[in-house]
Amino acid sequence: MGLLVVGSLGLDTVETPFDKVENALGGSAVYISLSSSYFTGPTYMVGVVGDDFPKKYINLLEDHNIDLEGLQVVDGGKTFRWSGKYHYDLNVRDTLLTELNVFESFDPVIPDKFKKSKFVILGNIDPVLQIRVLDQMEDPNFVVCDTMNYWIEGKREELLKLLKRVNVLIINDSEARLLAHEPNLIKAARQIRELGPEFLIIKKGEHGALLFAEDTVFSAPAYPLEMIYDPTGAGDSFAGGFIGYLHKTQDLSVENMKKAVVYGSALASFCVEKFSTQGLEELDYLRVHDRYREFLNLSKFDE
Ligand code: AMP
Repeated sequence: MGLLVVGSLGLDTVETPFDKVENALGGSAVYISLSSSYFTGPTYMVGVVGDDFPKKYINLLEDHNIDLEGLQVVDGGKTFRWSGKYHYDLNVRDTLLTELNVFESFDPVIPDKFKKSKFVILGNIDPVLQIRVLDQMEDPNFVVCDTMNYWIEGKREELLKLLKRVNVLIINDSEARLLAHEPNLIKAARQIRELGPEFLIIKKGEHGALLFAEDTVFSAPAYPLEMIYDPTGAGDSFAGGFIGYLHKTQDLSVENMKKAVVYGSALASFCVEKFSTQGLEELDYLRVHDRYREFLNLSKFDE
């Protein structure tokens, strides 16, 4: 049974202190699916684009065993566009533009073949749409959800309804503080888990990620890269690596979830090494696994 991924597909214009790209492939569903494809398949993608979405991007997704039966292509419609500019400190990003375009009237329709998926990942889109996807699924037993400040501020009530139905929420540190109205991350994590998700992952950019599971807190480092080219999509790649590994192993124990967090961190590190999705286009499982092993050495120490 495939892994169901819903989220944005978009054309990103990104500027960093090193370079600028225009209308490059982006979107949460794209980063998630490319990353998860190195562990498992097929991926059942659900989303929407306009007829301006380049064919070469469709081909790239299909080459990664991504089934596009759930992708709506709107005749005469304009694809979602996002633009961001990174500062010299790459942790700081200004969003210059968010044009929802075809997402504004998107009504996700899950093809029958996809409805039986047991693993679902709701990439960052309007929580109203994320709920509509869940409503159509037959009996998903593991739902992972991502969101961002745009929705925490703009669609809080809908997001709170959604959180009651998800197993894992993945957000970054500033989003966790915003969601919980609490500056301390440990307290914020407790409050967020009381809203529904059994497991919570808080991403801290170049400082790694925290997994809150049962009464455990697990801390994974970020891979120390000398050259970070474009941080766009790091969070989504993390989520894709995380769920891809869990879907492959079908093991939802806390110990296996820790490994999934490290695989997620590995995929995020490949993502930021190149512009747009380029760092995720030509990987293979061995390279991913080698990087995973490097993470082991990063935080191994004697008793
Ligand atoms: P990240 O760097 O992990 O936050 O992900 C960046 C990706 O998210 C970009 O490729 C954007 O196209 C996409 N994105 C940005 N804002 C939104 C939004 N409001 N809804 C859906 N996708 C978005």
